[in-house]
Amino acid sequence: MDADFFMNEQTPTGQTAKRAPALPDAQTVKSVHHWTDRLFSFRVTRPRSLRFRSGEFVMIGLMGDNGKPLLRAYSIASPSWDEELEFYSIKVQDGPLTSKLQHIQPGDEIILRPKPVGTLVHDALLPGKRIYFFATGTGIAPFASLVRDPETYEKFEQVILTHTCRTRADLEYGRQLVESLKDDPLIGEFVGDKLHYYPTTTREESPKMGRITALLRDGTLFSDLGVPPLDPACDRAMVCGSMGLNTDMKEILEGAGLREGANSDPAEYVVEKAFVG
Ligand SMILES: Cc1cc2nc3c(=O)[nH]c(=O)nc-3n(C[C@H](O)[C@H](O)[C@H](O)COP(=O)(O)OP(=O)(O)OC[C@H]3O[C@@H](n4cnc5c(N)ncnc54)[C@H](O)[C@@H]3O)c2cc1C
Repeated sequence: MDADFFMNEQTPTGQTAKRAPALPDAQTVKSVHHWTDRLFSFRVTRPRSLRFRSGEFVMIGLMGDNGKPLLRAYSIASPSWDEELEFYSIKVQDGPLTSKLQHIQPGDEIILRPKPVGTLVHDALLPGKRIYFFATGTGIAPFASLVRDPETYEKFEQVILTHTCRTRADLEYGRQLVESLKDDPLIGEFVGDKLHYYPTTTREESPKMGRITALLRDGTLFSDLGVPPLDPACDRAMVCGSMGLNTDMKEILEGAGLREGANSDPAEYVVEKAFVG
């Protein structure tokens, strides 16, 4: 069965992949988009019973060569109202999962454990006026869900999404997503002019360069956006990036007087790792 399953990954587009009959918690791939040689997104069927809060993550994967599921944590990039599930993924060349996952095609099946969890949820924050979503790399995935959720715009007057990547091509998934929201028949009217997108690059030249931590520390972000410096009375933040980014962001946010929240104890900001390592 495994041999069949992995052979199916190589099935050229347009051909129907042969099903792996015993795949547990199987969901069918509906579409795949390759953004760069290191990034892709895909959509799969949504289990009827799956309820989740925008911003949460689930375990997804493929059957491993040893016949056991090979699962990894993935933020659900689609909003909670979407009838399909979207994921935004890295391609790690020798990564146990993504070296194989990057070859999925429509009609293939993946494993999806329907137990969503996570801290990047509205329930973990106190009410506020302005919300910042700070993302680097694939850390934009939970915010791709949250910026498509009407609750975000019902709860906040201003929504600021920052995304920092090495190159412009790495920003493209987020850029196109934000662009599409304005005219989206379902979410467009909630978004209105509340959403502010702030993309930056660290390696390739672009209109705004620099690490988000540096742009926060020297106040550039606030002057660029025309907003006051962070204020625990009205600003809320969610952070999703590497361990280094998260640690630095915590220092900045705590320095401004914001406290870390949790589902059980909402406060002014929440953090989640975009990946381990
Ligand atoms: C809460 C949580 C949510 C996550 N959500 C996502 C998501 O939405 N999209 C996603 O692509 N990954 C996400 N990850 C990472 C994911 O779980 C896997 O690590 C990733 O899919 C690679 O799997 P792998 O088996 O190929 O390699 P692994 O053995 O898991 O990773 C190998 C190495 O690759 C690097 N790496 C892994 N993931 C990334 C990444 N996303 N960006 C940059 N470098 C990375 C790390 O250095 C890691 O040590 C998440 C991780 C956590 C903890």
